[in-house]
Amino acid sequence: MRFEYVEPRTVGEAVSFLSAYDGKAKIIAGGTDLINLIQSKSIRPDYVVDIACIPGLDYVKYDGKGDLFIGVLTTIRTLEVSAEVKKRHPVIAQAARRLGSVAIRNVGTIGGNLCHASPAAETAPSLIALGARVKIVGPMEERTLALEDFFIGPGQTVLRRGEMMVEIQVPAMQPHTKGVYLKHSIRGPADLAIVGVAAVATCDPERCEEVRIALGAVAPTPIRARNAEEALEGKQIDGRLIETAARAASDQSRPITDLRASAGYRKEMVKVFTRSAIREIFG
Ligand SMILES: Cc1cc2nc3c(=O)[nH]c(=O)nc-3n(C[C@H](O)[C@H](O)[C@H](O)COP(=O)(O)OP(=O)(O)OC[C@H]3O[C@@H](n4cnc5c(N)ncnc54)[C@H](O)[C@@H]3O)c2cc1C
Repeated sequence: MRFEYVEPRTVGEAVSFLSAYDGKAKIIAGGTDLINLIQSKSIRPDYVVDIACIPGLDYVKYDGKGDLFIGVLTTIRTLEVSAEVKKRHPVIAQAARRLGSVAIRNVGTIGGNLCHASPAAETAPSLIALGARVKIVGPMEERTLALEDFFIGPGQTVLRRGEMMVEIQVPAMQPHTKGVYLKHSIRGPADLAIVGVAAVATCDPERCEEVRIALGAVAPTPIRARNAEEALEGKQIDGRLIETAARAASDQSRPITDLRASAGYRKEMVKVFTRSAIREIFG
């Protein structure tokens, strides 16, 4: 397969090239997903635009309020080992540690993981549960939107002609907030998730004030389990409530049968892993 390799030096250069060659040009970051797509002939781009040549897109920064800003070229490994992320947004580091092997995490980027838009994208559930937003730059304008609104279907996002993602913005975790990400896969982290569950909850000793639960690999896109959240919010958590929430999450999932697991098994595992995630948070 032949394609031309393009090395933009700025985001502006990249987006004007992408918009001029819409449909014919593909971004490459770490290449761990894109090269597979090219080799399997799932896509045949005429141009491959290497955004890794653009300086300044690889950072993990906290502001004074504790909000987190992640450049799209940040590797999964950086998020896994960052002392600051482990301390202030541990659920992100936890999800990063569950993605593939160290070799893949050293090369694969957060932007690539999200923009590839696999329903099983490892970093999506924890970021959605944290209320993350993504910053997108196009030839005409810049916009930010909630990550949960970014995905449209398997491999499909709201990115328009010429646009690229540049940053992920994550609100600070409030006091008394805990998060957990659980992945179920056949061969450990090196394998794609059969089910991924992230839960982030703010609780006082008496009751659950706010909770967000996000599921991966069990619908065409990563999704919020809103019915499960509603079952828990404002309530004193007990075993019965946890069971109701776990069942609600399972009911909301829309998995498919594929080579990793049947739809029925996935639905059952959503229940099991949602139950475990809530138990882990509420002790
Ligand atoms: C052996 C192996 C194991 C893996 N295991 C897992 C796993 O357990 N969990 C998991 O979630 N993933 C897994 N992956 C998939 C992959 O490693 C990750 O999704 C990785 O984070 C992709 O990042 P990348 O930089 O390599 O993306 P690339 O391959 O460079 O790009 C991926 C896609 O995103 C687009 N893109 C990249 N950056 C941008 C941007 N800034 N703006 C717009 N579009 C962009 C590209 O055009 C391409 O379509 C695995 C892959 C392999 C090969």
